[in-house]
Amino acid sequence: MVHANFKLNDPSLLISTGWINDKQVKAVSGRKPFEVQDPATGEVWATVENMDELDTDAAIAAATEAFPSWSQVSARQRARMILEIDRLVRENRDDFAKLIVMETGKALVEALGEVDYATTYSWLIAGEAERIHGDTLKANDNPNVRFFTQRVPVGPVGLLCPWNFPLVIALRKLVSALAAGCTVVIKPSPETPCTTLALAILCQRAGVPPGVVNVVTASNHTTPAVGKKMCEDKRLKKISFTGSTAVGKLLMSQAASTLKKLTLELGGNGAWIVFDDADLDKAADALIANKLRHAGQVCVCANRVFIQAGIYDAFAKKMEERMAKLKFGHGLDEGVTNGAVTTERGAARAITIIDDAVKQGATLVTGGKRFGTGFLVEPTLLVNTPRTATVYTEEMFAPIVSLYKFDNEAEVIGLANDTDMGLTNYVWTENISRAWRCYEKLESGTVALNTANASTAEAPFGGIKQSGMGKEGGLGYGVEEFTVVKLAALTL
Ligand code: NAD
Repeated sequence: MVHANFKLNDPSLLISTGWINDKQVKAVSGRKPFEVQDPATGEVWATVENMDELDTDAAIAAATEAFPSWSQVSARQRARMILEIDRLVRENRDDFAKLIVMETGKALVEALGEVDYATTYSWLIAGEAERIHGDTLKANDNPNVRFFTQRVPVGPVGLLCPWNFPLVIALRKLVSALAAGCTVVIKPSPETPCTTLALAILCQRAGVPPGVVNVVTASNHTTPAVGKKMCEDKRLKKISFTGSTAVGKLLMSQAASTLKKLTLELGGNGAWIVFDDADLDKAADALIANKLRHAGQVCVCANRVFIQAGIYDAFAKKMEERMAKLKFGHGLDEGVTNGAVTTERGAARAITIIDDAVKQGATLVTGGKRFGTGFLVEPTLLVNTPRTATVYTEEMFAPIVSLYKFDNEAEVIGLANDTDMGLTNYVWTENISRAWRCYEKLESGTVALNTANASTAEAPFGGIKQSGMGKEGGLGYGVEEFTVVKLAALTL
């Protein structure tokens, strides 16, 4: 097993400094570097420069200086560079996957899937650079007046990325910004800085000019100062953030001072609804994939699993059988199907919310404990959990499946919508009319019908209510977030 001495096959991909103006840079403050842990063992395997608002200032200056010329690079040339980034990521697929395992704790098979999924975005979005277009209009009340619109890049932007999909989310945001003609300052999550740094180096190799892509690495301690600086500095014209709703709200209040454009992809509290006419085996297999991949730390993971009363016990049995077959462990070990929780705080919270559910009357069918030296948590099944438990009211971000009973369609729609979140809901039924009614009534950015596959590069992804605002990916949508509409008016 590769642990503390882990090195990429191509060691030049692994750097531990920030990245400004195409150069590796140390933190101005000289502050002690922060540590990156292997979530499955807790071992420290990398130390990374701990940057703050001064370094962020330098990164913003580099992005600002590079913007005028980058925004004038032709769309076709930008598209070609993105395709080259895409090619280089695929060429380094195995290295990226190992890096993702070491940073996030997920299983290798999932990490390989992440690299493949990430490049579906770079591939699609390269072409989007050439499809940014405007409108031509005649004034309705004056035959001599014409209007034209163009979509122009919003300016230098700040990308605040989370730790759960360090490659997919950083690459998706990055290439959308580059396609639109924006320059970027990226702040990766403190748990996963190396994947982003590797990506920045590949951008350089792909021919992206200096200053267009800059990376500020910061610990959990200095992250708030960096985030605040990015929100409040008027040279950055937009912030795109993926993470928790609490941090999203903080960033929105900070960005108000400069009235920045925002894209926020935040938490969820999605429902997984299984009606008694559903294919139960398909619904159970899909729930295992949806709810337990990356140890439940995916924003589109179902959080509240509603099972119609008549099939409740049978479905619980199917889940118990399937969960017994999973092998949680170190992501690089042979045969491991599921990995660790990424952070110590995440693993500790998992146990706290399991204990809370049991204390409130839930039955613990399987799991419930941590194991190993790192942040591994057993896959946990809870039944008959009261709806007052934290596992119901809040997003868990942990490998916990908790089942709730319902009687009829109207009741379950009401329960599903009774949350401030609105990211993704799932419905399992063989009745097409019911499936359509649920799609129309459920309050979320996505409603998945008889599938766990709630997102794909070609479709716009994003939440409503307190799950965020704006879209990523899709035909036009994600790139448009990095543009503004500029109107020209002309009297003939
Ligand atoms: P957290 O709220 O502490 O952090 C979430 C993310 O925001 C991290 O990447 C973190 O580095 C960053 N962050 C924190 N404070 C910041 C600040 N002041 N300025 C800028 N960035 C800041 O939560 P956590 O413990 O890391 O993760 C747990 C919760 O986060 C989950 O329950 C989930 O709701 C949410 N989350 C969501 C996603 C997603 O894909 N939508 C991804 C990761 C985490």
